[in-house]
Amino acid sequence: MAVLDIRVLGDPILRTRTAPTPAVTEAVRALVADMFETMYAAEGIGLAAPQVGCSERVFVMDVDENPLAMINPEIIEREGSERAEEGCLSIPEIFGDVDRATRVVARATGLDGKPFEVELTDLAARCMQHELDHLDGKLFIDYMSLLKRKFTARKWEKEAASYPGFIRKLEPGKQRSRRSRSRDKSANSATAPFEPEL
Ligand SMILES: [Zn+2]
Repeated sequence: MAVLDIRVLGDPILRTRTAPTPAVTEAVRALVADMFETMYAAEGIGLAAPQVGCSERVFVMDVDENPLAMINPEIIEREGSERAEEGCLSIPEIFGDVDRATRVVARATGLDGKPFEVELTDLAARCMQHELDHLDGKLFIDYMSLLKRKFTARKWEKEAASYPGFIRKLEPGKQRSRRSRSRDKSANSATAPFEPEL
């Protein structure tokens, strides 16, 4: 297993819709294992294949210690709507509110090559919808108002200088800790939202 480099906003692969993954091969299983390792190293809760430079229709997620790998995922039921703040491992330091369904039923192929269905709610449902968007070349910033998108673009211009070639290298133990940042925020406000990076 290996920690992979993460592609950041500006890399065209993040804007490329993936084609269905034709079969769950050994290579796909190895990619999933590397994606889990990369997601944990980055302290994220979800990671889609285009974020590590692979145009496979695959993502991994882990909300509440429930690791899930989905190949060729689709949403077959959705219900409810909630607005909450999101972040993305491919757009560090940028956060924004997104409306998402609060409950989804997803269908996907598992690592064993067999189809399965899973019901996800709240943060897990949000994460699943965010990752599915990645597979269609869509990013959470696309949901922002025009004004907020302009502000975000200016902020990202400065952030992007830290990622030559649109590559974010993870050095275990060296990257900024999302968890400690969340704790800092909580100190200021008891109702500080959890900002998931997906
Ligand atoms: Zn993301």
